[in-house]
Amino acid sequence: MSDAEQDDAQVVIVGGGPVGMGLAVELGQRSIRCVVVERYTSPQPIPKGQNLTQRTMEHFHFWGAEQALRAARTIPREYGIGGLTAYGTLLGDYTYDWLQRELVRPFYFTDNERLPQYATEAVLRQRAAEIPYVSTFYGWSAEAINQDDDRAHVVIAKHKQMSAGSCGPGTS
Ligand SMILES: Cc1cc2nc3c(=O)[nH]c(=O)nc-3n(C[C@H](O)[C@H](O)[C@H](O)COP(=O)(O)OP(=O)(O)OC[C@H]3O[C@@H](n4cnc5c(N)ncnc54)[C@H](O)[C@@H]3O)c2cc1C
Repeated sequence: MSDAEQDDAQVVIVGGGPVGMGLAVELGQRSIRCVVVERYTSPQPIPKGQNLTQRTMEHFHFWGAEQALRAARTIPREYGIGGLTAYGTLLGDYTYDWLQRELVRPFYFTDNERLPQYATEAVLRQRAAEIPYVSTFYGWSAEAINQDDDRAHVVIAKHKQMSAGSCGPGTS
């Protein structure tokens, strides 16, 4: 990062997960200069964070990313995105319909959604790239944060990505 960029950043966000990227978009839209440091060059394909509530989707709407997010949905439109717990067998008599988000739909501005978190993160990265107030350092890791009376300094270093089959420290 050049000195000029360092001086410019009002906020440094360490971690470009949904929270970090959402914050960057929110700040960037308010003309607040921020830098995101995220150790992975691309979102990690881990199956998690599928369900996005109506409240979350309201944020995406105001972040200018609702349409892109809905387009990134992996489940075909004609399939439901609720949840059901079945006991014993999927066809058993004992079931618990726990994800009835449509019941609270009238209280919100927009619909809920379902897609893998890595797809959500990709949409957030795309949106952040459109905002001139947001700079991103993907593939960099924050190693230390030092603070004095005037400012905080975040020390970053290239992240060493582990390839499939390699071991981390302490593993055998
Ligand atoms: C199995 C599972 C299912 C889930 N299902 C749902 C769901 O249906 N709906 C839902 O809303 N939530 C769900 N969650 C929770 C959701 O995944 C988390 O709430 C969400 O990931 C939190 O986002 P985050 O940005 O705070 O953190 P993270 O997603 O953990 O992001 C943190 C980021 O920081 C980066 N990072 C960390 N340290 C550094 C560093 N020193 N330098 C640079 N980068 C760094 C990491 O690489 C990562 O990308 C689920 C979680 C799991 C595990």
